[in-house]
Amino acid sequence: MGQYHSMTTRLYSHSIYLQHLTPDGHPERPDRLRAIERVLEDEAFQYLDRCEAPDGDEASILLAHPEEHRERVRQCIPHEGLARVDADTTASPLSWQAALTAIGAANAAVDDVFSRDVDNVFVAARPPGHHAEKDKAMGFCFFNTAAIAARHAQKKHGAERVAIVDWDVHHGNGTQDIFWDDPSVLYCSTHQMPLYPGTGAKDETGAGNIVNAPLSANADGHQFREAFRSRVLTALDDFRPDLIIISAGFDAHHRDPLAEINLTEDDFDWATAQLMERAGKFADNRLVSLLEGGYDLHGLAFSVAAHVRRLMNG
Ligand SMILES: [Zn+2]
Repeated sequence: MGQYHSMTTRLYSHSIYLQHLTPDGHPERPDRLRAIERVLEDEAFQYLDRCEAPDGDEASILLAHPEEHRERVRQCIPHEGLARVDADTTASPLSWQAALTAIGAANAAVDDVFSRDVDNVFVAARPPGHHAEKDKAMGFCFFNTAAIAARHAQKKHGAERVAIVDWDVHHGNGTQDIFWDDPSVLYCSTHQMPLYPGTGAKDETGAGNIVNAPLSANADGHQFREAFRSRVLTALDDFRPDLIIISAGFDAHHRDPLAEINLTEDDFDWATAQLMERAGKFADNRLVSLLEGGYDLHGLAFSVAAHVRRLMNG
């Protein structure tokens, strides 16, 4: 662990993220954020610039989704109790506000790195976003926060090339869907395959801007790093992004109950360092990391700690 800090790292969180409720026994639960909050209380994170996430605006949703999708999600929000949105996605009365505030934080994070307020940002929000397709809420996700943030960077800050790197153990079908024919956004994903949602084969390449690096069940850090190096990093070097957004899921951790990849905290630390190096080289350090999955509370908390420590220490 570095004993100095060389980067300014902001953390966005908000109590509304705890108010998006899911059924008992559901892996995507408020305790995930409580575990992250606890681990970031450590003295090692005293220089983290902690901010309350701002409200998102509903118009931003339209950067990545048609209005019909936004209104369909709005209709799903119950006045009380839980409402089922798809087989494994549910909404509670404050889910709309939580999802909107996740978007608010992601867009603010983009503003922060473009204004040079901070070097990089970690957004500890839920619900996650990378399974949300243009027209479809699924896989615990309503709106694709990473995709919205990428388009926000292009629209508001004139970013020409945005890279989204997704190391969640599940393929980000939603992000791939949204940018399928948009070469101004590079989407790179490492994920277990076969696994939910079933997409993410190497031959799914979009307009040449989609780079999938599927891993077999039981792959470990060695295989992950090899795939990351040979597919993701080489694509980033060719693309030369103005901004890197990480869809940071931590469910490829060996303790995670939803998948069979065996990464450790060190692997997330390594991948973070690799992306920071590219952000330094191409994007004036601009890097925004958005929490996606990660369902074992210890695996999640320790992985986030390693990730954020690296973001802070460079
Ligand atoms: Zn996942």
